[in-house]
Amino acid sequence: MTEPQIVFIGAGNMARALISGMRQQGIAGPNIQVHAPSNLHRGALAEEFGVRSCPAQAEKLPENSVVIYAAKPKQMPAVLKEWRDSLRSASALFVSVAAGISSAQITTLLGEETPVVRAMPNTPAQIGAGATSLFATATVSANQCDTVQQIFAGVGKVFWLHDEALMDTATALAGSGPAYVLLFLEALEDAAVLQGLDRVTARALALQTVLGTAQMAAANSASPSELRHQVTSPGGTTAAGLAVWEEQLRPLAQRALAAAAERGRILS
Ligand code: NAD
Repeated sequence: MTEPQIVFIGAGNMARALISGMRQQGIAGPNIQVHAPSNLHRGALAEEFGVRSCPAQAEKLPENSVVIYAAKPKQMPAVLKEWRDSLRSASALFVSVAAGISSAQITTLLGEETPVVRAMPNTPAQIGAGATSLFATATVSANQCDTVQQIFAGVGKVFWLHDEALMDTATALAGSGPAYVLLFLEALEDAAVLQGLDRVTARALALQTVLGTAQMAAANSASPSELRHQVTSPGGTTAAGLAVWEEQLRPLAQRALAAAAERGRILS
C-alpha cells in the first residue's frame, strides 16, 4: 500500500503493541509518529522502534494521515478538542481503540462528516497474534477500510462487525480476553502446585497445554465442542475434570463478559 502517515495519540500499552506489530510488518519508523505528554513513554518507543516522538499537542497533519487514538477513553473529549482542526484540514481518517466510546460520540466531537473506524485490538498484537474487531461509519471509504484492514491485519486477525452495538461484546471477549486466559493459566498452575508439582514444571505444562490446544483447534475444522468430545472417554479422567468445570464455567463466562461490557459502557 502507499504508506500513509500513521499518527498515534497515546504511547501506552496498546500503542506499543500496535507499533511493535507494524514495525515487524515493515511499516517504516519515520512513517509513524507518537504523541503523548510524557517523554518517558514516547521516548522509549522512539528508541526501540525508530518512530517519531512528539509532544501531546496537535500538529498539522499531511493528507492521507491515519490517526489512531490510543489514550484513555475518559481523556478523549479534551484531547479531540485540540486535534479537531488538524484532523479536519487533513481529512484524516480517525481510528479509535478506546473501549466503549461510540462513533456517534466521536463524530459529535469531530464533526458528522469525519470518517471514523472503531478498532478493538488486544495485546497479543505485539507478537503479530492479535484479534482486532473493526467497525466503520458510513463516511469511511472502501480505500480507507482497506488501509485500516492492512494496518491491523499486520498485527493479527481482523474481524469486521456491521453492528456497532456488538463492539462492547468484542471488547469484553477479545480486548479483555488475554487477561482471562492468563488468569486461567495461573489457576491451573496453582492447582497443580497444590498437588505437589514444582512451579516451573506446572507453569510450562499449563502454558504448553493451552498453546497446543489453541493451535490444534485453529488447525481443525471441527468445533471446540466436537474436539472435546473426541478426547473425553465416558468415566475417564477428562470426564471427571470436565464435570467440575461444567458446573460453573458457562455461567461464569456469561457474567464475566457482561461485567466487562457494562464497565466499558460506564467508562465512556
Ligand atoms: P495506557 O495507560 O498504557 O496508555 C495511555 C497513554 O495515553 C499514555 O501513554 C499516556 O501518556 C497517553 N496520554 C495521556 N494523555 C494524553 C494526551 N493528552 N495526548 C496524548 N496522549 C496522552 O493505556 P492502554 O492500556 O494503552 O490503553 C489505551 C487505549 O487502548 C484505551 O482507550 C483502551 O480502552 C484501549 N485498549 C486497550 C487494550 C489493552 O489490552 N490494554 C485493549 C484494547 C483497547
